[in-house]
Amino acid sequence: MRFASIGSGSRGNGTLVQADDTLLLVDCGFALKETIARLARLGVEPQQLSAILVTHEHGDHCSGVRVLANRYQLPVYMTAGTARSKALVDVAQMNIIDSYSSFSVNEVIVQPVAVPHDAAEPVQFVFHWQARCLGILTDIGTITPFVKQYYQACDALLLESNHCLDMLARSDYPSSLKLRVSGRFGHLSNAQAADLLEDIDLARLQHLVIAHLSEKNNTLERVQKSMEKVIQNVSNVLFACQEQGFDWLSVNQSVGYVVSHMSRDVA
Ligand SMILES: [Zn+2]
Ligand SMILES: [Zn+2]
Repeated sequence: MRFASIGSGSRGNGTLVQADDTLLLVDCGFALKETIARLARLGVEPQQLSAILVTHEHGDHCSGVRVLANRYQLPVYMTAGTARSKALVDVAQMNIIDSYSSFSVNEVIVQPVAVPHDAAEPVQFVFHWQARCLGILTDIGTITPFVKQYYQACDALLLESNHCLDMLARSDYPSSLKLRVSGRFGHLSNAQAADLLEDIDLARLQHLVIAHLSEKNNTLERVQKSMEKVIQNVSNVLFACQEQGFDWLSVNQSVGYVVSHMSRDVA
């Protein structure tokens, strides 16, 4: 299994997930020409896509979905709430998913996870394929116990660390926007992302990709500082950027942990 990004941030998102011949695009917030160019950088042509999965109807995630899907006759999966968006009503091959029920695209099992975010019926996704587990978690205002449960023990995790609260407070954003971004239904701050990483099991984590960074209210240094204690033991930590996304990362099967038992017969 492997994954890559065609771009991450408030000006457009798109994540590729591939397992054998199944190639999924999670969200598409770029115009058609731009999407094709960004896919090409990763060696992908749109007709190779098996399906598009949409997390929610915000423009940075869905603005390119309808045109891409209809042009290349791709099936699209989203919740009923997301499907009500004007930008998505004309999607030809619409598949409505339940926020709480897993579904599969070929051999890949997809678990939607309902998240607190200011959209109609937003979800994020955890992918399972042959004992590998990849979690994608962005556009979430609060980490709930429910969410935490689904992101335990991933082999790879793409996680939002949107803003530094201090930078956001000092920014020139109007106060309504500051409240929206930092609110229960907004985006994860660096501190919230670090808290999640402290609470979940990182033993299996091969790649941690920090994503959906605010270009105005965050810096790589601030993210690193917030997370320095928690990410020491993660083998590969990298940042997804707005322009380049990130290149393919392989997710390998974790080596099982051998538990040795002391023999009770030993005196
Ligand atoms: Zn977003
Ligand atoms: Zn959003």
